[in-house]
Amino acid sequence: MKSYRKEITIETPHRRDYINITRQVEQCLHESGIREGLVLVNSMHITSSVFINDDESGLHHDFEIWLEKLAPEKPHSQYRHNGFEDNADAHMKRQLMGREVVVAVTSGKLDFGTWEQIFYGEYDGMRRKRILVKIIGE
Ligand code: ZN
Repeated sequence: MKSYRKEITIETPHRRDYINITRQVEQCLHESGIREGLVLVNSMHITSSVFINDDESGLHHDFEIWLEKLAPEKPHSQYRHNGFEDNADAHMKRQLMGREVVVAVTSGKLDFGTWEQIFYGEYDGMRRKRILVKIIGE
């Protein structure tokens, strides 16, 4: 069995952003040489997510509105976590959108459904963050 590991670093220009990282994960798969197996992609932070969904800007706007309803950023004082920090909402948004995805690798390609794309969801950005890509197989 072969094994491959890489960290992707991202610094988003805004506090919250959705970044399509599918091409970067495909590049990792290419570098790994693995043709059959599994790819794990996870955020290495507790205020951001990796998830699979549609690359459609209206939907990303809808995510933003939905997340702000469930875990509004402001007022910061509504959260006990916000003493030295102001990112309690980001921890909660991450819980809603998830930590990681696993994608099957078949014939050297990510074995997606028709509209599936991999996204990095940032909820406390404007600083360097890391995403782990781990691929196993043969
Ligand atoms: Zn925090």
